[in-house]
Amino acid sequence: MVGHTVHTSAAEVRLAWEAWARDRGLAVRRRAGDPATDLRKSSLRVTAYVSDNCWTADCPICFNGMATWPGGNPEACCLDCGHIFEVDYPAGQELGEVVAALEARPPRNRHWRPQAGETAATLRYENVTHGFPPRRLPLEHGVAV
Ligand SMILES: [Zn+2]
Repeated sequence: MVGHTVHTSAAEVRLAWEAWARDRGLAVRRRAGDPATDLRKSSLRVTAYVSDNCWTADCPICFNGMATWPGGNPEACCLDCGHIFEVDYPAGQELGEVVAALEARPPRNRHWRPQAGETAATLRYENVTHGFPPRRLPLEHGVAV
């Protein structure tokens, strides 16, 4: 779930996310030992999007931003309320086309909202109209720090 490892227990998920947040200087607002904020799997799904060069998703419970990334991380964890969600990414070829279109832009201009109906074709059209040069720099993963 975090990095290149798929964790198999809530305890592993908790340790990985807490280490991830600590390494980035982010606050983990869950209260240890409080069942109201303990990590738990939600049946809700979230849709990934790109904001400021980072893959992210919004927690549907408390609206906190959650780090996520395609390719090896099928879940996102809300460090605020403690819910874990399955994440929907663009399928197959669409994902590659979205990434390619975003990587043609300067990092500060990398935004993509599938919830607003944006597709890879939308991004390519915007690239042409804004005159972004055909260069590629990799996207960041997770919350910008
Ligand atoms: Zn939340």
